Amino acid sequence: EDNNKQPPLPSPLRFSKFFQPNMRILITGGAGFIGSHLVDRLMENEKNEVIVADNYFTGSKDNIKHWIGHPRFELIRHDVTETLLVEVDRIYHLACPASPIYYKYNPVKTIKTNVIGTLNMLGLAKRVGARILLTSTSEVYGDPLVHPQPETYWGNVNPNGVRSCYDEGKRVAETLMFDYHRQHGIEIRVARIFNTYGPRMNIDDGRVVSNFIAQAIRGESLTVQSPGSQTRSFCYVSDLVDGLIRLMEGSDTGPINLGNPGEFTVLELAETVKELIDPDVEIKTVDNTPDDPKQRKPDITKAKEVLGWEPKFALRDGLPLMEEDFRQRLGVPKSK
Ligand code: NAD
Ligand code: UDP
Ligand code: UDP
Repeated sequence: EDNNKQPPLPSPLRFSKFFQPNMRILITGGAGFIGSHLVDRLMENEKNEVIVADNYFTGSKDNIKHWIGHPRFELIRHDVTETLLVEVDRIYHLACPASPIYYKYNPVKTIKTNVIGTLNMLGLAKRVGARILLTSTSEVYGDPLVHPQPETYWGNVNPNGVRSCYDEGKRVAETLMFDYHRQHGIEIRVARIFNTYGPRMNIDDGRVVSNFIAQAIRGESLTVQSPGSQTRSFCYVSDLVDGLIRLMEGSDTGPINLGNPGEFTVLELAETVKELIDPDVEIKTVDNTPDDPKQRKPDITKAKEVLGWEPKFALRDGLPLMEEDFRQRLGVPKSK
């Protein structure tokens, strides 16, 4: 028996012998809604190696299960409030619950995720010389007094309300990004994302588009939170992912608004979903939550100029794609 004979290497290692990735990319929150679509897009490029770090609070392995076992993909169960040691060239830092129900569920954890989590990812970027992108939010504008919102607007935010763990958390995260940039020369990119929707949103995650679509498919009344005249602008997820990648690979630090400028009242959204999915469902008015912003619409002049980016999907194009995904997951095929 020849003890020196080596068994063949397992396939991922054998693969790596020939494979030299050009770009090693970390995506925190990559098992979530936007993160998993970003993973899909980045994995399409065979020069990329993608590492996802996620604690599965609002995300799920299901969203990325099609990549598990792929030699260019790695999944780490990790909470960004803890130190992370990996060697990468790019960090897309998305980890943070995005739905009000989830970010208010454990607000102290939400602010730790935003502050300590972002600090850790900046420390990592500093150690390995990576470029880091933060997914900030239109919530940094609070209940805006300027409409539509340009990046130069400083916002109207309640510093100690029930949404503060999220909106003030993201504002501190932006501060950290720019201080690491100014003080340590870290390459940063800051995206301010406006309401985004699409397949793989958590069915019961409480956000307005997912709520209305799930309710319409289940034949339940659509819950419009009063007054219903508040507005939002809804961006389809593939448009958004395109904007994030352009921002990361471009030369502007941001902040840059990424969103669809089409503005709808919540009642108009309910009526559109009703018309598209089931004209028989009812629309009912329910209580709203505190500090709900009354209007929101991105000024995307800067994204157009600097990134050559603008959304392609109108709301009426994107909703049916999301309906299809929700019907599949809810097991309710379209009957009419
Ligand atoms: P999501 O909840 O689907 O995804 C967030 C992911 O982060 C989940 O997979 C979750 O498990 C993970 N996560 C949360 N806390 C973590 C922690 N401490 N450590 C590691 N992982 C953690 O939300 P999303 O809609 O995909 O949002 C992604 C990012 O985009 C968030 O940073 C959010 O603030 C931002 N954003 C989203 C929207 C939107 O409309 N979807 C709008 C503005 C900003
Ligand atoms: N950090 C990390 N991974 C690294 C390097 C740093 O998670 O590869 C974290 C570390 O826990 C630290 C934080 O990033 O608390 C900030 O790091 P930095 O070097 O900026 O600050 P310091 O360690 O000097 O406080
Ligand atoms: N909303 C609603 N019905 C729902 C969920 C949300 O009318 O079932 C409203 C909510 O009051 C807000 C808007 O829809 O005015 C967007 O809420 P969402 O939680 O999706 O995101 P936000 O923009 O507040 O972060």
